[in-house]
Amino acid sequence: MHSKIQRIILLLLVTLTAVSCKKVTIEEQIDKIYNYFRNENTSAVATLERVCNDYPARMSGSQNNDEAIDYYTYILAEEVGIKHIWHQEVEVPNWDPGVTKVTMNLSDGTVVELPAIALGLNTGTSGQDITAQVVEVKSREELKTLRCKDKIVFFNGAMEDGFSYGKHAWQRSRGASLVTDKGAKAVLVRSISNHPGDTPHTGACHDRDSTVAIPAAAISTNAADQLSEALKKDKKLTVTINSTAHNRPEPAIGRNLVAEIPGKVNPDHIILISAHADSWFNSQGAHDNASGCVAAIEVLRAYKELRMKPRNTIRIVLYQDEEMNLSGLKEFARISREKGESFLFDLEIDSGAGKPVGFHIFDSEDYFTKMEEVLTPYLEPRGLTLTYNDSDRDWPLKTYYTLVSDRSEYFKYHHGSLDNFENINPETFKESIAAITAFVFLMD
Ligand SMILES: [Zn+2]
Repeated sequence: MHSKIQRIILLLLVTLTAVSCKKVTIEEQIDKIYNYFRNENTSAVATLERVCNDYPARMSGSQNNDEAIDYYTYILAEEVGIKHIWHQEVEVPNWDPGVTKVTMNLSDGTVVELPAIALGLNTGTSGQDITAQVVEVKSREELKTLRCKDKIVFFNGAMEDGFSYGKHAWQRSRGASLVTDKGAKAVLVRSISNHPGDTPHTGACHDRDSTVAIPAAAISTNAADQLSEALKKDKKLTVTINSTAHNRPEPAIGRNLVAEIPGKVNPDHIILISAHADSWFNSQGAHDNASGCVAAIEVLRAYKELRMKPRNTIRIVLYQDEEMNLSGLKEFARISREKGESFLFDLEIDSGAGKPVGFHIFDSEDYFTKMEEVLTPYLEPRGLTLTYNDSDRDWPLKTYYTLVSDRSEYFKYHHGSLDNFENINPETFKESIAAITAFVFLMD
């Protein structure tokens, strides 16, 4: 009897040991990650709400931006328990958006105010009225023969859907530069959004090395339709732009925030997750890009909470000045090159907090085919697909991926005054962090 009990205990022990030593499969680990974000994690939404409410309008070089960096640092150090955290100082644009007013003046004397906003880095009208006739442009083709001396050029190419941002954003980023030499007085741009609305959307203009100084403003999509219609009936109408936007003379300094969990096997191989800490001045920057910053932090928290030990180092960088010059990421890349650091890839998070639909890779077709084969069996059941293009995007780090989220609503908010916490869906936000964490786990 005694020996029988002993045998049973021994058998139980062996079984228990076998169970506890059973390797968690990749699928099970991904399940754990998704369950954690679905059922346990409350910090992601709480942190996002706090950043949005307490530090809105995080323009590079602003006090709110600086305080947000302090807050993120506090969360990482005190709540998540990350030991490796540091800052990198970087010179950023010091642009003041001022106040911008645009009116449409019909030839019968009617004056209609059009909801308008200054475009980033443009130097305004020094508070003076600029009034001129308007010439409307809808495509880049039309620029070749465009005559616009002493006119205000109105770029009115409309986004067809959430995926045509790249096709139309040049109007905002390059429009002013492209017509300055033709003698245009100023530029008005239809907000780069595929949604009808009364709030104008800003964004950088005068990009790259261009130093043109003609004033540039965006008007809401509804106002753009209104102006376009009025131009058909009233060829003589004029537009007045008055803007106090300007670049402040003194330089501004911002801080990149870097934090990491060192790898257990290959600490010198770094998986980078990047998101930008700056936002525009006209909203809380909830989707763009507090959601990305909080997501990056929550990936590290998930690693800690779920006791996952990364093989490679998992590093996050919340960098400055994505919206204007990318100076924060360039400085980060410069320091990394100087140190000879080696990155497996950079996963950029900057597509809002909508439902995650996959990951986009910027690399060769060969690389994509390989990665697709390996990743698809795990991504597909979660509704995630891998896409790619091999165009060399101007990016300071080599292989990189971006999270792709559902775009049906995104451009309602992007760079507009509605980009606030109240327009975040907590469920899709957490699902996107689960997707990022699972992706990093798979790639590790
Ligand atoms: Zn962004």
